[in-house]
Amino acid sequence: MKNILPTPLQYKKNKLTFDGISLERIASKHPTPFYLYSKKTLDFYYKSFYQSAIKEGIPSPLVCYAVKANSNIEVLKRLKKLGSGADVVSVGELKKALKAGIDPQKIVFSGVAKSATEILFALKCHKRGIYSFNVESIEELELINLLAKKEKRIARISFRLNPQVNVKTHKHISTGNKTHKFGLLKSDILEALAVPSFWSNTTLVGLSMHIGSQLTDLKATVVAIKELANLAHSIEIPLEFLDIGGGLGIDYTIEERNKLASITQYMQTASEALTKFYYSKTDHCPRIVFEPGRIIVGKMGVLVSRVVRTKTSEDCHFTIIDAGMNDLIRPALYDAYHEVLAVNQSKKMILTDIVGPICETSDCFGSKRKLPALKSGDLVVIDNAGAYGHTMASRYNERDIAQEVLI
Ligand SMILES: *Cc1c(COP(=O)(O)O)cnc(C)c1O
Repeated sequence: MKNILPTPLQYKKNKLTFDGISLERIASKHPTPFYLYSKKTLDFYYKSFYQSAIKEGIPSPLVCYAVKANSNIEVLKRLKKLGSGADVVSVGELKKALKAGIDPQKIVFSGVAKSATEILFALKCHKRGIYSFNVESIEELELINLLAKKEKRIARISFRLNPQVNVKTHKHISTGNKTHKFGLLKSDILEALAVPSFWSNTTLVGLSMHIGSQLTDLKATVVAIKELANLAHSIEIPLEFLDIGGGLGIDYTIEERNKLASITQYMQTASEALTKFYYSKTDHCPRIVFEPGRIIVGKMGVLVSRVVRTKTSEDCHFTIIDAGMNDLIRPALYDAYHEVLAVNQSKKMILTDIVGPICETSDCFGSKRKLPALKSGDLVVIDNAGAYGHTMASRYNERDIAQEVLI
């Protein structure tokens, strides 16, 4: 199934454009490397995701955008305007989501290591606190209850189920099995529900899951939804929501483009599984919460960089650029593939390794790539860098953090 995901990039007369504007012109105004984001593309993906949920009959869908994918304040403000909530994993992300104006009653807080300070802040940020603490351990539940009691509040919580599924993705971003630190097993959740002292100042409002990132096929998602539904059936309490997490992938490669599940296929599959395993067997009608990150912001962003110089060592050719693994760590960390495009196309191509300035051999954006023979000052673009790019940047080698430009 061919599945074209829109991108802001397009060659016009052999020159690369971004939302129709010449990249050379954009780059003349900003020091490289910099991240470049397209508001238009951001809008497209958020609206496609939300409208697809509506079209597939998902009950009152709430999109809680996973802030860790891209926490740029303008991006968050835009998403807020479009109606988005937020999935946060730290008090820093929570503060940023609030600063962008996102309604606390649309914010879920995930993560295995929420500290007392973080829990307190989330409890007190609004008279009803946040929409939900997605609880990942029994100790965390006890702490939330204790702190809520001290503050004379009721904390809204959901359990993050570990559905024990194996996901086809990179091992660093697979999160749904019991050997992973995430979520709770069904038996532990049922046991905790039976302990009255955990529930004096907490109330169970939902169940959640998140099985991994850059998911391209939906088999594990269906199994996990079935597990989530089974757990919901085992609990008498009427739930306000079921949160089926994020994880939908994008096409970094042509191969992925051909096998990737589209937003429509994802929503159809989720809707069918939820009906079959849950709604058809109960009178309750909890709403569905989603936590998408990459699918919302991945394709809207690129990393723009200039060639510093080239060198050869025997038959190896290197194109050295001014962006490094500190700016975009995905290739070094996950062996991730990112297309590298020359801003000026040419018929004469060479095979070259695109490498950065960092003193590590893993500081490489691609080996043996077919590119024009570039020279110092030429512009290149690293594609699909809107998600897990800038948010994972570091100052390694005392380099500055790349600027972000939104157009
Ligand atoms: C990272 C994360 C997400 C988003 O994952 P994507 O693959 O970017 O959609 C959603 N939920 C939780 C709990 C996460 O940790």
